[in-house]
Amino acid sequence: MTEDPDRERRKLLKAYIQARAEIHAAWKAQGYGHPPPTFPQYPDELRGLTCGAKTRAGTPCKRTDLWENGRCKFHGGLSTGPTSDAGKARAAMNGLLPKAKRSP
Ligand SMILES: [Zn+2]
Repeated sequence: MTEDPDRERRKLLKAYIQARAEIHAAWKAQGYGHPPPTFPQYPDELRGLTCGAKTRAGTPCKRTDLWENGRCKFHGGLSTGPTSDAGKARAAMNGLLPKAKRSP
């Protein structure tokens, strides 16, 4: 296993996403008032940052649509499913009844 050459940039991406999330949470807490807050600009050094995960062909992934963990949707960026009890119950209902017949 070789060291990820973009490790520091991935940390920077995570910090940037976290900073945006904090600003957005504060904005949401005060009811999305007007004017909206100014968000920090996307750092120039992060432009073109690729996923970099090892593909089945052995080459690094070239996708640039990254999630908070610095990987693309194919390499660790997607949801792992419902976590709350209500969400799990809703997911378990899939395929059992048509939505119109379910109780609200
Ligand atoms: Zn990828």
